[in-house]
Amino acid sequence: MKQTSKSRAAASRRSFEERLAARRARAVEDAKFRARQVHGKLRRFVRIRFRSEEVVEALALRRGDCNRCGACCEILFKCPFLKKHGDGTTTCGIYEDRPRQCRLFPIDRRDLAEVRGTCSFYFIERPIKLERAS
Ligand code: SF4
Ligand code: SF4
Repeated sequence: MKQTSKSRAAASRRSFEERLAARRARAVEDAKFRARQVHGKLRRFVRIRFRSEEVVEALALRRGDCNRCGACCEILFKCPFLKKHGDGTTTCGIYEDRPRQCRLFPIDRRDLAEVRGTCSFYFIERPIKLERAS
C-alpha cells in the first residue's frame, strides 16, 4: 500500500516536472519568436528606407496573393487600425494611407517566419528568365 502511494507521488512529481519543462520550452520558443519579429521589423525598416534596390530584387521573387489573414498586422502587437471580420478576414482602417512596411510585406521568405505560416505569399528561388521565341 505504502509502495503504491509512493509510486503515485513519484508519478505526480514526474508529471508536474514534465508540465513545467513543457511550459519552459514554450516560453523559450515564444521568446525566440518575438526576438525574430523584433529583428524582422528592424530589417524591413532599414531595407525599405535605405536599400530600395535590394527590396525590388527580393520582391521580384515573390509570388501569390494576400489572403487578408491580418497576421502581418499583429507582429509584436496588434495594430490599432486592424479590423477583424466574422469570416476570418481582416481589413486595414487606413488602407490607402498604410505605411510602406505594410504595403510591401513580405519582402522575402524570412518575413514569412514571423507570421506562423499563415501568409499565402511564397518565394521562388531565382527569377524566371524569359527566353526569346525562336
Ligand atoms: S496600418 Fe493597416 S496594413 Fe498596416 S499593420 Fe495596421 S492594419 Fe495592417
Ligand atoms: S500575412 Fe500575408 S496573407 Fe496575411 S495579411 Fe499579411 S500579407 Fe496578407
